[in-house]
Amino acid sequence: MDKIKMNVPLVEMDGDEMTRIIWQQIKDILLLPYVDLKTEYFDLGLKNRDLTNDQVTIDSANRTKELGVAVKCATITPNAQRMTEYNLKQMWKSPNGTIRAILDGTVFRAPIMINGINPFVSCWKKPITIARHAYGDVYRDSEMRIEGAAKVEILVTYPDGTTKTQEIFDFKDSGVVLGMHNTDKSITAFARSCFTYALDIKQSLWFATKDTISKTYDHRFKDIFAEIYENEFKAKFEEAGIEYFYTLIDDAVARIMKCEGGILWACKNYDGDVMSDMLASANGSLAMMTSVLVSPDGKYEYEAAHGTVTRHYYRYLNGENTSTNPVATLFAWTGALRKRAQLDGLNELERFADLLEESTIATIESGTITGDLKNLLDVPVKTVVNTEEFLKAVATTLESKL
Ligand code: NAP
Ligand code: MG
Repeated sequence: MDKIKMNVPLVEMDGDEMTRIIWQQIKDILLLPYVDLKTEYFDLGLKNRDLTNDQVTIDSANRTKELGVAVKCATITPNAQRMTEYNLKQMWKSPNGTIRAILDGTVFRAPIMINGINPFVSCWKKPITIARHAYGDVYRDSEMRIEGAAKVEILVTYPDGTTKTQEIFDFKDSGVVLGMHNTDKSITAFARSCFTYALDIKQSLWFATKDTISKTYDHRFKDIFAEIYENEFKAKFEEAGIEYFYTLIDDAVARIMKCEGGILWACKNYDGDVMSDMLASANGSLAMMTSVLVSPDGKYEYEAAHGTVTRHYYRYLNGENTSTNPVATLFAWTGALRKRAQLDGLNELERFADLLEESTIATIESGTITGDLKNLLDVPVKTVVNTEEFLKAVATTLESKL
């Protein structure tokens, strides 16, 4: 069989630890034998980020703006322990944070549904997709420790020199402060991506903030969503038979636990971070959760929702057999290839991405699985295999479909 052709390269962002190992295995076992893979490679592994003073992360994001589609491996966000482990020059920022700040846009996360894996929340019959606002708030904040008594104020300086101050707190003793921001532009883009995506997947959109407490900050989000809905999307939503529903974040959480799924849930940055992990766990495994960042001007970055699976990596370094689930990372690749195929009109490549996903699901449903799914999958016969064996089993299924 001739290898499937590509025109425009994907931006390939390599990463760290166990997922870096899996990255190469996916390419070797499931992509390179079938696709004449074109990528522009950026090594976002922590060692290289340190070597390039994190320039590689910025370059990869800027290249994504030009080429349109990226696929990203999970990466370490350094903390104090990583500083010593990797002998870092600096505690580099989260690569995902940097990329999101450059691309803006929204992260959509959805579980990969498998026959035989039932969500822990028994009323969830259809997937719940979470849209996480990918810009600002606590992820781009400025924080300070206050040592002893101090009056803390916000100072705003306009270009014409006029200023405005507002008291935050009059400290009688030590404490902490935090300043954060968001922009109308980013919130507007977030709202538009959410309404557009809801129409794409024909699911109702829920949005929630804490506007009763945060009467200016969160209220701004609520107002922008309402305005864009009224002006641009209301008619289209009615035509599609879906609705836009706004409520308070605590009410939304309560309702989510009682709904049947099949909705798109728009969350502010922090809510989306936390709630997507809750959703992923309730659906069984973080390793069965897809994630895509969509910028307002239609650039896509696909990745897995989980991290670098450090605990497995240390076992792997000790020569132990690891059964890490590669599905979310594999679906990042298929998502990126499918999007590239759609943009470039490559039917064969699109079909390949579909078949590879179908083969992965079929392999799991037939009982060949990684360790994390052992207690979740309800089928008569289960065989737990290591990561490489799993990918080879998917390849066998794929061969039979090609
Ligand atoms: P993690 O890598 O997601 O792993 C947490 C635990 O979840 C694992 O120890 C494992 O549980 C389970 N798990 C996650 N993915 C799995 C998979 N594919 N197959 C099987 N089990 C899986 O989170 P973490 O340990 O908190 O973070 C590790 C590193 O990843 C950190 O340096 C962090 O900065 C980074 N991180 C990166 C991203 C990203 O790049 N998007 C996101 C989150 C975290 P068991 O050990 O019980 O098997
Ligand atoms: Mg999280």
